[in-house]
Amino acid sequence: MANEKMSNRPTPQPGILEIEAYVGGRAGAEGAGKVFKLSANETPLGASPSAKEAFMAAADAMALYPDGGADELRQAIASRYGLNAGRIVCGAGSDELLHLLAQAYLGEGDEAISTEHGFLVYPIVTKAAGAKIVQVREKNLRADGDAILAAVTPKTKIVFLANPNNPTGSYLPADEVRRLQAGLRPDILLIIDAAYSEYVSRNDYEAGIELVATSENVVMTRTFSKIYGLAALRLGWMYAPAHVCDVINRIRGPFNVSIPAMKAGIASLFDTAHLEKSRAHNDKWLAWLTEEISKLGLDVAPSVANFLLIHFPPQAGQTAKDADAFLIKRGLILRQMVSYGLPEYLRLSVGSEEANRLVVAALAEFVGKARAS
Ligand SMILES: *Cc1c(COP(=O)(O)O)cnc(C)c1O
Repeated sequence: MANEKMSNRPTPQPGILEIEAYVGGRAGAEGAGKVFKLSANETPLGASPSAKEAFMAAADAMALYPDGGADELRQAIASRYGLNAGRIVCGAGSDELLHLLAQAYLGEGDEAISTEHGFLVYPIVTKAAGAKIVQVREKNLRADGDAILAAVTPKTKIVFLANPNNPTGSYLPADEVRRLQAGLRPDILLIIDAAYSEYVSRNDYEAGIELVATSENVVMTRTFSKIYGLAALRLGWMYAPAHVCDVINRIRGPFNVSIPAMKAGIASLFDTAHLEKSRAHNDKWLAWLTEEISKLGLDVAPSVANFLLIHFPPQAGQTAKDADAFLIKRGLILRQMVSYGLPEYLRLSVGSEEANRLVVAALAEFVGKARAS
C-alpha cells in the first residue's frame, strides 16, 4: 500500500493529460462587418438543396432511434462508389472513426506514425489510446513514404496518412501509397484519410478503395463534412477489411449516426450536379488564388484540395501573424499554422468569389504596406 500512488481525485488514463485539445478554425471577427470564415475548409457552396430537404423531412422521426447499422446509408455509399456495403462503417464524422480505430488498435507501449505537418487529430487519438505518436519528417511539405518506413519499429501499430494532407494540400500518388503499404508489416494498419479526395483531379491519385479491397491492413476514411457540405451534421464513413469492420462495430456507440445526418448524406450522394458544381468552383478559384497570391510575391504551396498554404516572410511587420491580424480586421478569417509546426504560414480555404477577391485585395494591401515601411 505504501508504494501505491494514491490520488485525492479521479485520474485519467496515461497520455490523456499530454493531449493538447484540438482548436478549430476561428469563426468570428470582432468589429468587422461582413465576416468570411475561411479557416475550416468548409465549402462556400453549402450542402445540396436535396440534402436540406431530406434533413427537414427527418424532423418527423425525431423521437425514434436511428437504424444502428446505418443500412440505407451504407447501401447508398456502396452503390455510389461501387463498394461492398458490408465493408463500410459509418461514424459521427470521420473523427469518430479515427478515435475508434486508435482505441481498437493502439494501447500503452504502442506507436503510431504520422508526418511532421499531418492532421492534428492523429496525435490526439493516439495519445487518447495511451500510445506514442511518432511524427516523421516531410519532404517539401509532402509525406515521404521512405521516411515513414524508416520510422517503423516493432511497437508500430498504425500509420496515419492524410491523402491529400491537411494543411499542406499535397498528396502522394497511388504508386507511392502502394509502395508504402507493401513496405509495412502486415500487422500494421495503414489508415488513409481521404477527406478531400473528391476535390483531387490528378490522374495519378487514388483515394484508396483499391488498396483496401486488395489487402488486409488498409482502411480508408471519408467524410461528408467537406465537399458535401454537411460538417454540422457529423457524418463520415470508412471502407475497411471485414475483420476491421467487425472490430469497430463491436466498440462504436450503437446509434452513433443520427437520422437527419443519414438522410441528408444519402440525398447529397446522389446530387451529382451539386457535386460537379462544387468541384468546378474549387478548380477555378484554387488556381486563381494560387496565381494571384503568387503574383503578390508570396509563396503558395501547391494544393490539390480546397485550401492552400501561404508563406510569409519572417521580418517584423510582414509575418503570418501580422497578416492574420490585418485580414481579421477586414472580416477575413484564415488559420494560423503554429500548432502544425508552420508558423510562417497561413492556411486559406477556397471561398465564394466575393471572399476570394477580398482576400487577394487585402493581401495586396498588406504586402504593399509591409514593403513601404
Ligand atoms: C476535415 C478533415 C476531416 C473530416 O473530419 P470530420 O470529422 O469528418 O468532419 C478528416 N481528416 C482531415 C485531414 C480533415 O481535414
